[in-house]
Amino acid sequence: RYANAVALVRAQCAPDELLARLKALERAFGRKRGGQRWGVRVLDLDIVLWEQGSWASPGLIVPHSAFRERVFVLAPAAAIAPAWRDPVTGFTLRQLQARLTRPRPLPR
Ligand code: ATP
Ligand code: CA
Ligand code: CA
Repeated sequence: RYANAVALVRAQCAPDELLARLKALERAFGRKRGGQRWGVRVLDLDIVLWEQGSWASPGLIVPHSAFRERVFVLAPAAAIAPAWRDPVTGFTLRQLQARLTRPRPLPR
């Protein structure tokens, strides 16, 4: 059993410093270092998007590399900010979500 949420966070620091704080929170909640990546975890805090666009540094890539394929991220994100534009693809969150949920045309 797990719960999933997307939130808009106002931070005064750069994304890499924010991630360090999120990892500290994960540890405070009892997540083990180097724990199972896809397994059951106490807490997983990721940075999906950044208001200022793209970010890349050792250990951090924003936008999150998998968010466009994840309904459980895109749906709540698009509900909060449908017009937010993904700096990598140029699509809005509304468009990205439509791409995911639209039934594919049948092959002829
Ligand atoms: P997924 O990336 O598929 O959601 P995960 O969240 O389960 O996987 P973790 O083990 O929590 O993977 O994180 C692996 C590493 O990914 C982290 O240590 C972190 O340095 C790195 N990372 C890169 N980009 C991001 C990002 N946007 N948000 C959070 N972590 C990131
Ligand atoms: Ca994750
Ligand atoms: Ca993570």
